[in-house]
Amino acid sequence: MTIKKYGLVIAEKSYGESDKILTLLLKNFGKLKVYARGAKKLSSKFFAASQIFSCSEFVISKNKDFYSLSQANLIENFAPRSYTEFCYATYFCELVEKFLSFQSVADNILLLLIKILKLLPEISPVYIARIFEFKFMQLNGFEPQINFCHACNCMKNKMYFDSDGLVCENCLDRTKIFCMILDSALIFLRAILSTKFNELIDKTEIFSHELIAPSRVFISANLDLNLNSKKFIYQIENFSD
Ligand SMILES: [Zn+2]
Repeated sequence: MTIKKYGLVIAEKSYGESDKILTLLLKNFGKLKVYARGAKKLSSKFFAASQIFSCSEFVISKNKDFYSLSQANLIENFAPRSYTEFCYATYFCELVEKFLSFQSVADNILLLLIKILKLLPEISPVYIARIFEFKFMQLNGFEPQINFCHACNCMKNKMYFDSDGLVCENCLDRTKIFCMILDSALIFLRAILSTKFNELIDKTEIFSHELIAPSRVFISANLDLNLNSKKFIYQIENFSD
């Protein structure tokens, strides 16, 4: 049996001397691990299409539970042009790779990821990362409360942010992960969650740093993922002012 699908390489792992195991996010199909024989060789017909951040039309052979690449036509490669871009692109892909389950259609996530990788060279990564994180969470059913305290429905001058979104000082559970949230960050967050992705891009980048802590709290509290790429992003963002 063969599967022909459009998709993106979201992870790659070296296997033996010349082979690779690719994790693909395929349209109308979802996440899939595929064996790519000879893909590490420069002369391989899979060489370009088997690089992480590459978008291709893949033809995959299925034999029992084993999937192997039999053809790949490269459409676009979103290869990052700097170390910072590389760290962010890796982080976005790793978040998707670790969160999604196998063979469960996630076309909206694929679309989001491709858009983000396309925009990464053009827009501040700190800004684009916040949009990605909250849109990703929203698409997966994690929507923070952004209008009032999620426990008592009040709205005070000083508000905090935890796993469920806004929370007031009285309702705050200090044994759990939380942070403060400024009004400016909240305005940016409301725009992210209520606006279509394309409409956000021209907005000012001024509040993106203020949303770093709330995004970390929200993702860490809701997703139990051990991301290798996270520490690089934390390093970049802690020193990027
Ligand atoms: Zn409250």
